[in-house]
Amino acid sequence: MVFDKKKWDKEYYQKNKEKIKAQKKEYRQKNKERINEYARKNYQENKERRKAQKKEYYQENIEKIKAQKKEYYQETIEERKEYARKNYQENIEKIKTQKKEYYQENKEKIKEYQEKNKERRKEYARKNYQENKERRKAQKKEYKQKIKESIYNHYSNGVIECACCGEKEIDFLSLDHIYNNGGKHRKKTGGSFRILLWAIKNNFPPIFQVLCMNCNFSKGKRGNNGKCIHQIRREEKEKRKQEENQP
Ligand SMILES: [Zn+2]
Ligand SMILES: [Zn+2]
Repeated sequence: MVFDKKKWDKEYYQKNKEKIKAQKKEYRQKNKERINEYARKNYQENKERRKAQKKEYYQENIEKIKAQKKEYYQETIEERKEYARKNYQENIEKIKTQKKEYYQENKEKIKEYQEKNKERRKEYARKNYQENKERRKAQKKEYKQKIKESIYNHYSNGVIECACCGEKEIDFLSLDHIYNNGGKHRKKTGGSFRILLWAIKNNFPPIFQVLCMNCNFSKGKRGNNGKCIHQIRREEKEKRKQEENQP
């Protein structure tokens, strides 16, 4: 049989495991300083090389790394926003004081930086304003739509439609002054949306109804005496019916 050194080593290690470990530990304890010194020297000597390696790796994989970073950023965007919001709310006073202190301490530096980056800052502000303009517009529209809906809902008893013809498209509907004094009233409150706010503020007085634009317009037409043409026709029909029924 040939002597198998590897096998022998392995067996020896298994048999003397604890002893070997203890010896190693003891050696490390005794030579602590020397080992540390060696590690330090090794680190210093290879520092530049490792740095270069890292840089090279980064250069070679720049697209991949960027994509990963972007993906991570996108995936955690809501999480981070939520965290920032919560953190801000919880530490609002502390953050304000810190900001103030930081500004006072670095006033000159900040001013210098701002002056240096004037054009860039302007450009950023302009872009930011433009980007948020659309968002703000959409928010405003949504807010107005909600107010409108809740008021129409109240004045049409839960089913939003024209009180005269039954038109249901909210875009065609408006709040009508039942007693035809809208012009006078609007002069006091201001435009059509202000009337809505006025109605809320005054606890939904029973002076309004929901009408579509056609019925509203017809009702306001001179000669119709404050009645929509639908209403006039309905009354005419009713009258004829009564006349026919009379002997
Ligand atoms: Zn109508
Ligand atoms: Zn009508």
